[in-house]
Amino acid sequence: MTLKLADVVLTYPDGDRTLTALDHADLAVAPGEFAAVVGPSGSGKSSLLAVAATLITPDAGAVTVAGRDVSGASAAERTRIRRDHVGIVFQQANLLASLTTLDQLLVMADLAGRPPRAAAGRARELLAAVGLEGKEHKRPHQLSGGERQRVNIARALMNSPEVLLVDEPTSALDHTRGEAVVALLAGLTREKGLATVMVTHDLAALALVDTVHTMADGVLTHP
Ligand code: ADP
Ligand code: MG
Repeated sequence: MTLKLADVVLTYPDGDRTLTALDHADLAVAPGEFAAVVGPSGSGKSSLLAVAATLITPDAGAVTVAGRDVSGASAAERTRIRRDHVGIVFQQANLLASLTTLDQLLVMADLAGRPPRAAAGRARELLAAVGLEGKEHKRPHQLSGGERQRVNIARALMNSPEVLLVDEPTSALDHTRGEAVVALLAGLTREKGLATVMVTHDLAALALVDTVHTMADGVLTHP
């Protein structure tokens, strides 16, 4: 399994009590598997992705990312694991307003200490793979919402992650563009052998996934 969460408990302080966001959650995603997590707002879906992304260390349980046990890892190790093995796509594309499409991707390679020449080739390949050929020199305000989300996805893949985590990728898009983004994620997952987890409210998106896990009050149930 490329991504594995075992018996994960995550609580947040909530006044003089604690709120249990993840209640003994298990999740296993294999290479090339497109998994969806569905559930109401506030049920713990984004918290699950934050734990899988090594952004939050849970109170209890084990997290394995790309074969590395991150449970006991230092903050520096977790940052390196995240940078080299995890692609993260949030709801809003959060692109840098002053950068071109190509440069949004090159920043990622630069952060990972990769040589710019090889990175430019990879960035152009990825932009072609997400259907953005010819948009390399556009800035975010010159792109549609769907195109910005495609840049976001290509950027997440820049450092060749094994795990791709996607939070509500279609919520800012109309139905047709949303469907196209989910189809793109499904294709990339298969082609690149990614272990992909997509949180979604969009029931139409579920037609293209391999597994659907349901979250309710921090409890994750499996198919
Ligand atoms: P979802 O993504 O399914 O909407 P979240 O994971 O964002 O759910 O939130 C799960 C629960 O944890 C909610 O009750 C939310 O209010 C709470 N929560 C999320 N993040 C924090 C935080 N940083 N501090 C305190 N409570 C939080
Ligand atoms: Mg959320």
